[in-house]
Amino acid sequence: MIVTVFAITRYIMYHNWVYNVKKLLVDYEFVDIFDNAHVLNTKSFPLVFKMKVIEMYKREWYDTLNKSIVMDLHKFFKSNFGYEMYLDVLPKSLRIFFSRLRMSVHHLRIQTSRYTNDNRPRNERYCVVCNSHDIEDEYHFICICPCYSNVRKQYIDKIYYVKPSVYKYLQLLTTVDKQELINISLVKHALLMRSNITYTER
Ligand SMILES: [Zn+2]
Repeated sequence: MIVTVFAITRYIMYHNWVYNVKKLLVDYEFVDIFDNAHVLNTKSFPLVFKMKVIEMYKREWYDTLNKSIVMDLHKFFKSNFGYEMYLDVLPKSLRIFFSRLRMSVHHLRIQTSRYTNDNRPRNERYCVVCNSHDIEDEYHFICICPCYSNVRKQYIDKIYYVKPSVYKYLQLLTTVDKQELINISLVKHALLMRSNITYTER
């Protein structure tokens, strides 16, 4: 307790508002401004600073995404930071599914094998539904797995699954066609099928 109080007191003593202003300027690459405040254009600087904050945030966001081993497909279709059209197009029930599919928030083995007892290398996370030697990732789930062929035929254009490729899958996920967005979201029914299959096999 005494140590904590001492640490807080020390922080307040050495980290006053001047320190915080200087730290912000240094963090956002305006270190010269602190020592040369007389040359500062006070009217334009807030906007310049704001633009810099946005630019650096985007840079950091892009780096984090690029290094992510979880969202390895996401980085290929989400190349720009910004609002996505599908958020306005899809009703809430479908929007949740589509968002989760895009961000790899689901129960496919490519993700669950990372954090369950079934911890296994990425290249061994085979599909438990069709028992193939295909990795059960979003691409396999949407375009390949034979167990969902009926649902797939019902909702997705055959161009995406007759001669499937990751490239076509990425095209599908970035579609701006409203009906196509709704249709791919309806593939959420396949997730229900998956739950039933994997549950009965326990
Ligand atoms: Zn499969």
